[in-house]
Amino acid sequence: MARITLRPPATQELVLSCLNRCCPVCGGPLWFAYENDRTVTTLDAVVAVTLQVRRCVNPACALYHRPYRPELEGRLALPHHEFGLDVIAWIGAGRYQEHDSLPELHRELTGRGVVIAARTVDHLLARYEELVSVALAAPARRAGLCQQGRLVLAVDGLQPDKGHEVLWVVREVLSGDILLARSLLASGRDDLSDLLRAAVAGLEEVPVAGVISDGQLALRQAVADVFPDVPHQLCQFH
Ligand SMILES: [Zn+2]
Repeated sequence: MARITLRPPATQELVLSCLNRCCPVCGGPLWFAYENDRTVTTLDAVVAVTLQVRRCVNPACALYHRPYRPELEGRLALPHHEFGLDVIAWIGAGRYQEHDSLPELHRELTGRGVVIAARTVDHLLARYEELVSVALAAPARRAGLCQQGRLVLAVDGLQPDKGHEVLWVVREVLSGDILLARSLLASGRDDLSDLLRAAVAGLEEVPVAGVISDGQLALRQAVADVFPDVPHQLCQFH
C-alpha cells in the first residue's frame, strides 16, 4: 500500500553496539560482522539508527554465523516497525487508561510533532492490543526457543507520559521474540517477579544466560529472586 505521509528526515543519530562481546551459548568471541541501518520515529525524534551486528565464529556453536544484534534494538522498536515502541505504549495508554478516541490520539501526536497517518495510529493500537494479549510466544516459537538452548532476557519498562501504568516488555534477545508484555499499575519487587516468572513459563528447562535491564532497584531485586546467579547486565537507554 502506498504511503500517504512522507517520513520526515532524521533529527537524531544513534549508534547501537552489542553489550555482549562473548557468545551467550558457547562463550567464544562475537565478531563484528556488519552494520545495519534503520530509521525509527519515536515520540521525540526521528532517529537514524546504525546497528553494529556481530556473529559467533565458533563452527561448533548453535549460534554460529547467526547475526547477534544489539540488545537495545528491541527496546527502541519492534522488528520491521518504523514507529518506536514508545509510540505504541503511548497510544495504548491513551486509549485504555485515558479513554481517548483514535482521532484525539492522532491530533495529539501530530500536535507534538510526530508525523503519522491517522490509519497508522489505528494499526499501532492493534499492535499494542496484540502485544499485551500475547501470553507467551506461540508453541512453535517456544519449541524454537527450547532448541536454541539458552535465553538472554531483556526487560524494559516504558512509561508513557499518558496514563499511570508502565508497559513492561520482556524480550528474548537471541531470537528477538517478545515473551510477554504487560501494563502494570504497580511495579514493585513482587509485581516484577510475577512478570518474570510468567515470561518464562514453559521455558523453565532452558537456562537463562543473562538478563539486561536499566537496573532500577525493584527490578534488580526481582531478577535476583527469579534468576539467582544469572548475570544481570545494567544499561541505560538514552
Ligand atoms: Zn557461540
